[in-house]
Amino acid sequence: MYKEFGIKDEVVNLAEKIEHELTYVFDAVNKRCEINTLKVLKAFNKYNISDMHFGTTTGYGYGDVGRDTTEKVFTEVLGAEDCIVRSQFISGTHALTVALFAFLRPNDTMLSICGKPYDTLDEVIGIVDNKSSLKSYGIKYEQIDLIDNDFDYEAILNRASRHDVKLIEIQRSRGYATRKSLTIDKIEKVIKAIRAVNDDVIIMVDNCYGEFVDDKEPLAVGADVMVGSLIKNLGGGIAPNGAYIAGRADLVELAAERLTAPGLGKEVGPTLGINKYILQGLFMAPSVVASSLKTSIFTSKMMEELGFKPVPRFDEKRADIVQTIEFGDREKLIKYCQGIQMGSPIDSNSIPEPWDMPGYTDQVIMAAGAFTQGSSIELSCDAPIRPPYIAFQQGGLTYEYGKLGVMKAISQII
Ligand SMILES: *Cc1c(COP(=O)(O)O)cnc(C)c1O
Repeated sequence: MYKEFGIKDEVVNLAEKIEHELTYVFDAVNKRCEINTLKVLKAFNKYNISDMHFGTTTGYGYGDVGRDTTEKVFTEVLGAEDCIVRSQFISGTHALTVALFAFLRPNDTMLSICGKPYDTLDEVIGIVDNKSSLKSYGIKYEQIDLIDNDFDYEAILNRASRHDVKLIEIQRSRGYATRKSLTIDKIEKVIKAIRAVNDDVIIMVDNCYGEFVDDKEPLAVGADVMVGSLIKNLGGGIAPNGAYIAGRADLVELAAERLTAPGLGKEVGPTLGINKYILQGLFMAPSVVASSLKTSIFTSKMMEELGFKPVPRFDEKRADIVQTIEFGDREKLIKYCQGIQMGSPIDSNSIPEPWDMPGYTDQVIMAAGAFTQGSSIELSCDAPIRPPYIAFQQGGLTYEYGKLGVMKAISQII
């Protein structure tokens, strides 16, 4: 059966050999999965989730008890004062944009302390010209780069102590940067240090790909607000779209009034039948994130055995679900991504090719055979085509299909 599926014998043998060595790493993942499941189950019980909450509203969406209770459940699970979880957020980028436009005013300064934020925010901030950017409204942007994968404390504290910075952004996951993702411990340490010199700056965390990877979220270590996408971790592969903003109640209110309109805020927003999927997605999310992590850990160990350079290493502490593999070779990178597509449940007969995607300077290849368009909690792999030819792989709704997909991709390159 493996052979018929396109997995070579030597890959089956290697997988069998290395999987034994992963047991203790998987055990730790399972333990965190249980803790996060406990958080979710407790919240469902606290708010007595029942069939009633799976109802729907249309039009303005007034009095949507399912939506309002869903937000209470998310608030509880994420350790927030309040949150807004809506399908009217088109994506993570949209939620981040709503948050930034809600919190910042003309002449305010936004400071990123982990280098340049995620690529899609370039035009939002005005790093790349756009007539509707924050910059076009007179909002200033500054950034401090990481040093050796950690914060530049001297520069950050120096800048933050001058009190004219309105908002500090921390991005937990690495995006397409070559830096490492930031663990909760590192985020906690820098927030403590910032708070010692400035207690009114808004600390906002881009939490994309980070939820349920650890047993704590950024709000628990002092962040004011965090933002993430439901077609990544928290949607559990079931939410059809959407995103969330969670944290301080006053900030969530500002964000809600920017998403809808001043005076309307969270009171409106029809759910059009998705309440059940959002709740079921959250319910599945700890387990799906654990499957994604195991797929990444398996990939990392396999690739290391085969002489490639994976980051993080299989037993390294993880901050997100992303696994990178340095191929050092253009053709191998492309063949690997194509192999991931071939091993997917959806669109397995498509062959992804590098192309000139809008917004990127290099050609990009993207493999994703997903039930939900663009969902990257499902096994997916993408890469800018430039040396040293690094693939960014993430997701895996179940460990078993994630593992098989990776085995098929590896069979393409050896
Ligand atoms: C995916 C991602 C985003 C943007 O999310 P979309 O839903 O794709 O718009 C922002 N920041 C980080 C770190 C991400 O990984």
